[in-house]
Amino acid sequence: MTAAVLADPVAAASAAAETPSLIGLSRAALGDALREAGVPEGHVRMRSSQIRHWLYFRGLTDFSAMTNMSKALRETLAERFTLKRPEIVTEQVSQDGTRKWLLRFPPRNAGRPVEVETVYIPEERRGTLCVSSQVGCTLTCTFCHTGTQRMVRNLTAEEIVAQILVARDRLGDFPDAEARQGAVVPSEGRLVSNVVMMGMGEPLYNFDNVKEALLIAADGEGIALSKRRITLSTSGVAPLIPRSGAEIGVMLAISLHAVCDELRDVLVPINKKWPLAELLDACRVYPGLSNARRITFEYVMLKGVNDSLAEAKQLVRLLKGIPAKINLIPFNPWPGAPYECSDWERIEAFADVVNRAGYASPIRTPRGRDIFAACGQLKSASERMRKVERDAAEIALGH
Ligand code: SAH
Ligand code: SF4
Repeated sequence: MTAAVLADPVAAASAAAETPSLIGLSRAALGDALREAGVPEGHVRMRSSQIRHWLYFRGLTDFSAMTNMSKALRETLAERFTLKRPEIVTEQVSQDGTRKWLLRFPPRNAGRPVEVETVYIPEERRGTLCVSSQVGCTLTCTFCHTGTQRMVRNLTAEEIVAQILVARDRLGDFPDAEARQGAVVPSEGRLVSNVVMMGMGEPLYNFDNVKEALLIAADGEGIALSKRRITLSTSGVAPLIPRSGAEIGVMLAISLHAVCDELRDVLVPINKKWPLAELLDACRVYPGLSNARRITFEYVMLKGVNDSLAEAKQLVRLLKGIPAKINLIPFNPWPGAPYECSDWERIEAFADVVNRAGYASPIRTPRGRDIFAACGQLKSASERMRKVERDAAEIALGH
């Protein structure tokens, strides 16, 4: 690099942003990166395993603390790679303890930095992190706030994994860290015990990166979550459902929301491409499907639109033969949304029909509605927060 380039702050910043990270690399890719950095072939496996432990289990952001490696190697790695976290633009905490972060990542050819939201939902016995897969979404489900946001780009595997690491940083969920004072967290087990790909974006439209990231989340030498505690939610990209089961092997959730094609074409327009019959056929052959490993069908309750008891009965007929759990989601409103949430009595009556047919049908308690963190409320453009409010939040975070 020439001195002239270094003297230009914009070029220097963009060069820094382009320094490759070791976070989010597959085992093979991490091995290649180490080889290129001069690690001898006979050491690559051991070093890669040590580094994964430092990055994902211990949460290090600095090579200098990797004490089981020589100083020279640590320096070489620090010259070539970064472990930098994304910038936390805001952190909001709901009255119910739900936390939402707005994270900013470097542009990576998208013109300007991109922002996504990640949500942490603490419960008595688990802490669920709702992770985004894309900036915006190409799909336009009519009840979803993210669907009104222009799709900017896919997130990289690094950026998907980074959302988990940031949450663990902020909660104090790494082994050497103290749990964060005042944070609402589960009373037992890990603070981030479950990951759901239910944030912004359609994860199966970013298959390769989501796959790499989830394999790291499940890697016993890394974040080490059981695959049963990781769920991928899709709006219905039927042709990729078998690959998702075979190559990623996490739990599957399907955003169903309607029991006939006519209505589903409107609510979840991807249905025009892969209609119900095709989607459910793909579910029937989902690898690893059994009564112990059921598919979750998500059904958003929209008043007067999809919430009749006749539709509840049709839902039961439709899922016949598929080991399933039905998750009823009270619609979460957002400014300008063309729907209302069904009445509570109707949601319970709907759940009763489904229950009597032998399906578990939990009604999802809306969480974090006061900070727009509930299902379908995520959107990263700064429309909701005026700049002054955002600046105040940044000051509070110490930026
Ligand atoms: N794109 C993926 C995952 C993200 S959405 C998908 O569609 O499955 C996570 C869940 O929230 C989906 O079931 C989605 O349909 C649901 N959802 C979207 N908007 C919602 C809203 N306003 N209220 C309640 N649930 C919503
Ligand atoms: Fe995209 Fe899922 Fe929202 Fe549909 S529900 S617009 S697929 S994020």
